[in-house]
Amino acid sequence: MSSIDTTVIHAGYKPGNSEPRALPIYQSTTFHYSSVDEVAGLFDLSAEGHMYSRISNPTCAYVEEKIAAMEGGVGAILTTSGQMATLISVLNLCSAGDHLVSSAAIYGGTVNLLSFTLKRFGIDATFVSPRASVDEIRAAVQPNTKLVFGETVANPALAVLDIEAFATAAHAEGLPLIIDNTFPTPVFCRPIEWGADIVVHSTTKYMDGHATFVGGVVVDSGNFDWAAHPDKFRDLVEPDESYHGVVYTRDFGRAAYITKARCQLVRDLGVCPPAVHAFALNQSLESLPLRVRRHSQNAQRVAEWLEQRPEIESVNYPGLASSPDHDLAQKYLPDGICGVISFVMKGGRDQAAKLLDSLKLASIEVHVADSRTCVLHPASSTHRQLTDEQLVACGVEPGMVRFSCGLEEADDIIADLEQAFAAIA
Ligand code: PLP
Repeated sequence: MSSIDTTVIHAGYKPGNSEPRALPIYQSTTFHYSSVDEVAGLFDLSAEGHMYSRISNPTCAYVEEKIAAMEGGVGAILTTSGQMATLISVLNLCSAGDHLVSSAAIYGGTVNLLSFTLKRFGIDATFVSPRASVDEIRAAVQPNTKLVFGETVANPALAVLDIEAFATAAHAEGLPLIIDNTFPTPVFCRPIEWGADIVVHSTTKYMDGHATFVGGVVVDSGNFDWAAHPDKFRDLVEPDESYHGVVYTRDFGRAAYITKARCQLVRDLGVCPPAVHAFALNQSLESLPLRVRRHSQNAQRVAEWLEQRPEIESVNYPGLASSPDHDLAQKYLPDGICGVISFVMKGGRDQAAKLLDSLKLASIEVHVADSRTCVLHPASSTHRQLTDEQLVACGVEPGMVRFSCGLEEADDIIADLEQAFAAIA
């Protein structure tokens, strides 16, 4: 693979003679065919092409191709949100009566999805520490377990997952590993290279990077051998009656998982984003490596500065030598981590709230990964639905501040924090 800096520019859309240089927006719900046989070929999955934009669209397809190349996968599906990407990745393997094992250090919205919403549909989850040993992860597996899930760098706990340990445990149990790689992006970590089988993203974060479009993506590595475990993954190895008896592993080989996801779930649930969203995402992806390096460098500077401040109880950023995850960060994220840091204010919940109200450059946003520095108090916002027990499991303390360093000059971000500390002293 060429450098990721080149892949983000050139993978996907390649114009022919006299075609637009920039990726066109195919703003059309449907597509033209001149014979019945050609359309029949699409429905039989024997011909490639697009039939209806609920299922696929050329603009989206080019961006899917680009992101698959960035992650080193065989195919991808864009979705309307990161939540939808996670949901699709799980529902493609789990039905009512099934179970999954997940790292406890994951995004709060994913905790909700896995522990409440999916439970209503008969899918159970067991959570393990992101630092769990291979044996501990394996011990959480049940006869009905269908997958293992984790987040490379957890939002907002910033715990770094030991991807290799999770992959080893999953594979020893005949299960695939799904990794949410939203925070590092494939610029800093490609989980497939460490054994992950499926990668999901909230593209709303760094991939978009400008706080403009909500979206997600599921990437299939093509590496998991579904046919080796036919009892677990019947839907992949037995004929799909909803699609003319297609057998995904037999007919699509390494692209079995991603093809099944599109044929069944994208078709039935309607999760394909609008073409214009994919166009905007493509534009943002072209600058992703440049942007995330700056975000990460800013975060490192701000974290080191905060660590020296008397107002602060602790700073959490895996790039700091003091971080318990520094060793894992050096292994999995040697070139950068992300722009998000978290810190705990002395004085707890009240001081954290005062600090947020005193910042001028950094704005309070229910978001991270914006080009503009933004800040949030998780215990009273994104994580307010979690019990104290779940908060602790996610690594969220009442006085914790989530601080997402933007693309501004690091000195200006630090000056803003300095004036806010002075204002609340
Ligand atoms: N995964 C992570 C790590 C996230 O931070 C988020 C949102 O913050 C999501 C998934 C959900 O993505 P979206 O908000 O695009 O649905």
